[in-house]
Amino acid sequence: MTPENTAGDCIFCKIVRGEIPSDIVYQDDDVMVFPDINPAAPVHLLIIPKEHIPSLADINDSHTGIIDKMVKAAKRVAREKGVGESGYRLCINNGPEAGQVIPHLHMHLMGGKRLGWSH
Ligand code: AMP
Ligand code: ZN
Repeated sequence: MTPENTAGDCIFCKIVRGEIPSDIVYQDDDVMVFPDINPAAPVHLLIIPKEHIPSLADINDSHTGIIDKMVKAAKRVAREKGVGESGYRLCINNGPEAGQVIPHLHMHLMGGKRLGWSH
């Protein structure tokens, strides 16, 4: 693990610890949801595990159910933000070629407009 990829230095862990302010949309013991700072859609939220897991590739048997909890939180906030019926996209970027820039697992929730699709 590189020095910049520890919980101490991680920007999303700092949000979890309250060291960086964020407009928290939802949290429980395991997950947190907050707005993306550079939204790509009218509704653009990030769903993260509170535990520092660098990426989807790092999920293992010790992280029982975390993806399930993230999806359930996503469904809940999608309803609360009014896109539960109109539709939304959940997306996890894993690794450089997928465009993952923050090495703390996060799921994007985007909605509120007709979303395009590019590769
Ligand atoms: P990814 O490219 O999948 O790693 O997505 C990282 C996302 O985190 C980008 O959409 C950024 O706009 C967003 N982001 C970066 N810093 C912050 C922050 N402090 N608060 C909220 N979102 C952030
Ligand atoms: Zn982290």
